Amino acid sequence: MQPPLPQPTRDNAPFYEAALRGELRLQRCADCGRFRHYPRPLCPHCLSREHTWELASGYGEVYTWTIVRGPTLPPFEPQLPYNVVDVLLDEGVHFVSQLLDCPPEEIRAGLRVRAVFAPPVDGIALVKFVRA
Ligand SMILES: [Zn+2]
Repeated sequence: MQPPLPQPTRDNAPFYEAALRGELRLQRCADCGRFRHYPRPLCPHCLSREHTWELASGYGEVYTWTIVRGPTLPPFEPQLPYNVVDVLLDEGVHFVSQLLDCPPEEIRAGLRVRAVFAPPVDGIALVKFVRA
């Protein structure tokens, strides 16, 4: 059983289209200039609807994390134990994902990481992280 994939919406389709090209793009408010993630129609700071999709650096640091040891949903059981990390990107927004190729005991707050793109499955390339 394969883990469920995100279903692109009108708001986040540009994010997934960029990920397929190997680009991490974030919404940036055209009025106040602040980045936001997850994608959404309104700026959470000034409520503007105007935004651009900016190429992000792909770098950030682990803000917090957890190790999932189970129980979990059946499609994720083969991955146990696995981590879930909250990465604070250099653009100032949080991004929840997984840190690849890193033993649980080596994950720590402040660890520098960079984005990588998982091989596409059904047209979706998930954004993951590795140590920078
Ligand atoms: Zn704004």
